[in-house]
Amino acid sequence: MSVSEIFDSLEYGPAPEDAAPAQAWLESHGRRFGHFIDGRFVDGRDHFESVNPARGEMLARIAQATPADVDVAVAAARRAFATWRATSGHDRARHLYAIARQVQKNSRLLAVLETLDNGKPIRESRDDDVPTLARHFYHHAGWAALFERELAGYEPIGVVGQIVPWNFPLLMLAWKIAPALAMGNTVVLKPAEQTSLTALLFAEICVTVGLPPGVVNVVTGEGAVGAAIVRHPGIDKIAFTGSTDVGREIRKATAGSGKRLSLELGGKSPYVVFEDADLDSAVEGLVDAIFYNQGQVCCAGSRLLVQESIADRFVEKLRTRMERIRVGDPLDKAVDMGAIVSPAQRARIDALVKQGASEGATVWQPSSRCPDGCFYPPTLLTDVAPASTVAQVEIFGPVLVTMTFRTPAEAVALANNTRYGLAATVWTETVGLALDCARKIQAGTVWVNCTNQFDAASGFGGYRESGFGREGGREGLYEYVKPSHVPALGAPPEADPTPAPVPSLRIDRTPKLFIGGKQVRPDQGYALTVAAADGAVAGEVGEGNRKDIRNAVEAARGASSWASSTPHLRAQILYYIAENLAARAPEFAGRLRQQTGRDGAAEVEATIQRLFRYAAWADKFDGAVHATPQKGVTLAAVEPIGVMGLLAPDEAPLLAFVSLVAPAIAMGNTAVVVPSERHPLSATDLYQVLETSDVPAGVVNIVTGRRDVLAPVLAAHEDVDAVWYFGTAAGAKTVETESAGNLKRTWTWTAAIDWHAADAEGPEFLREATQVKNIWLPAGE
Ligand code: NAD
Repeated sequence: MSVSEIFDSLEYGPAPEDAAPAQAWLESHGRRFGHFIDGRFVDGRDHFESVNPARGEMLARIAQATPADVDVAVAAARRAFATWRATSGHDRARHLYAIARQVQKNSRLLAVLETLDNGKPIRESRDDDVPTLARHFYHHAGWAALFERELAGYEPIGVVGQIVPWNFPLLMLAWKIAPALAMGNTVVLKPAEQTSLTALLFAEICVTVGLPPGVVNVVTGEGAVGAAIVRHPGIDKIAFTGSTDVGREIRKATAGSGKRLSLELGGKSPYVVFEDADLDSAVEGLVDAIFYNQGQVCCAGSRLLVQESIADRFVEKLRTRMERIRVGDPLDKAVDMGAIVSPAQRARIDALVKQGASEGATVWQPSSRCPDGCFYPPTLLTDVAPASTVAQVEIFGPVLVTMTFRTPAEAVALANNTRYGLAATVWTETVGLALDCARKIQAGTVWVNCTNQFDAASGFGGYRESGFGREGGREGLYEYVKPSHVPALGAPPEADPTPAPVPSLRIDRTPKLFIGGKQVRPDQGYALTVAAADGAVAGEVGEGNRKDIRNAVEAARGASSWASSTPHLRAQILYYIAENLAARAPEFAGRLRQQTGRDGAAEVEATIQRLFRYAAWADKFDGAVHATPQKGVTLAAVEPIGVMGLLAPDEAPLLAFVSLVAPAIAMGNTAVVVPSERHPLSATDLYQVLETSDVPAGVVNIVTGRRDVLAPVLAAHEDVDAVWYFGTAAGAKTVETESAGNLKRTWTWTAAIDWHAADAEGPEFLREATQVKNIWLPAGE
């Protein structure tokens, strides 16, 4: 080709990255790897092949762990935990800092190995994956240094099992290992079977920096190894990133085990473009959103929602840009899209595209050549119906589906028309519109006029079936710590010897439930008799059933405008409840004494104080502006979860009831509450207090009945977003198992709690009642 022809066509020449150092590293291990346990490599019994997907060549043989290998790794992590947790924050910081430095020193080797193993373009592994890996260790070295001061009152959880997918092997490893180690935990990590190599190179870095043996352990193998980690009794927490289906299995497998759990799952993220957007920038952002890493990105902007008035123009610009995308050898520095991770994944993408076509979508691909083998061209699907398979299912490939909308409300409705809630992008030059959409779209991250922004200082994680828990930022640290002090109940207080004054009580009072702001009869009309402390009959309550719970959930969902009421208003209403309760304090005290035989006046006073304090928190448990590198702001907004099911314990029937309801509604949730089964009358007496305190209908719904009959109904209900359960171990297990359906958040307590204790209220409760949404808002002229 002559120089003038080159100027004419602007063809790229080859710009290959040298793979020799990475190949030499593989050779130095004889292209065969064992597990990394207790600070050294141990050989495995069986091995499988790790393949370079771009060339179809075997890179190395990787050990397939057995349950016995997992045992040994967990035991090593347990031994190491004893000393690592006692290591000062400063010393832990020095180790994390040293890891970050070594990552930088080995950055090219890490990047090339990642590209060989995964098929992603070297441009991405070199410029994004590896720098972000280093950044996570630097950032969390900082958190380790600040541990004693900033996390006073918390301690590490213990041995953490971490399971990661193949799409960002190093990045996912960093998101997991850095915060876990910073907080004093030790880990057993399982990389994805397709991409284990860089985790093994990282293990060598751990040796180089002198990380104590057993603090990081890496066991390799297929899903069964992950399952063995999940079930292992020596593991205190599971941190999982992967598909929603496997996340659901893990939720069920860990139910009732007492293991903490965080799940970072799939997505089908909307990319919303309004007519006043900077369209060229929006096209550029979209190319990054859906074709980055061949679209194998959990938060890929895979659903383009474009305003009807500009749809044709925008799609035309997009097609022009897509024609320029270069698909090819991932080691070529001028390539935009590399290989799909495996033939199986490629076949899955292709099958979904064909299904889209069969369901009526129009498929468009650029005319430029896509190499043969494990490659897939950037693909655009138009004429897509919102309910079609390709609009709902995570394709996990370079496939964009397109729909149009007319109004902002329609855009938000379409954006939320998914079971996922991982990320979203909004393009508009109108900042008010952008922020309004950002708050209304159900997603853990919202990028405004930008996309794919990540940083260690900002949390990342899902709403809805995209999972729960955050990685990064201060919010991510709480996934790896627990409160040092649990407000466990000591010996129960002595019964008051003075006879209980019988309150003005009519035994034949009609038992009712409190749903949608009204006292309503239970569906079946059955009642439960409530015993007094002295064995006499104290009264009756309605026996709620499945139908009553469904009605209550509907009422709670119908009251969702509570979430957008002002925190000041929510505070005022909580104060008002306290005021009305105080006015009737003697009556409530008598009722408590009648049911429990204990000093009711103290419990009523404690309940009033608790209401006051949650009223105070309502406008103070707020978000942050994270110190990310972007020019602009990253807003960490604290949002309610939605409809919460609250199952109250029997201890302190009034105080515990309010200790659950007050934080939930202070944060903007609506609640369906099952009060103490043994002593429910304090809750039913509250109906009138709630009615006279301006609590909007449906914000608090109370269904009396048998806790362990009603708990699974709430836990399985698809329109309940979180369940708090305070009861038996068997009940907790059922709640956690049933929650797997829509992957609602659960918080279960099986130990009796001293509800009068100072730490039976506060941030722990507020955190469980909220989720953090990070909104990225760039600044510039
Ligand atoms: P996957 O769920 O099949 O596998 C993920 C990991 O889990 C692998 O290490 C696998 O070996 C292991 N595993 C498989 N079955 C298991 C079981 N029964 N018990 C325990 N572990 C098991 O997911 P994938 O196909 O490797 O990855 C793609 C998925 O990951 C996508 O859905 C993507 O959205 C998601 N993802 C999410 C995030 C996030 O931050 N939310 C980030 C990256 C990827």
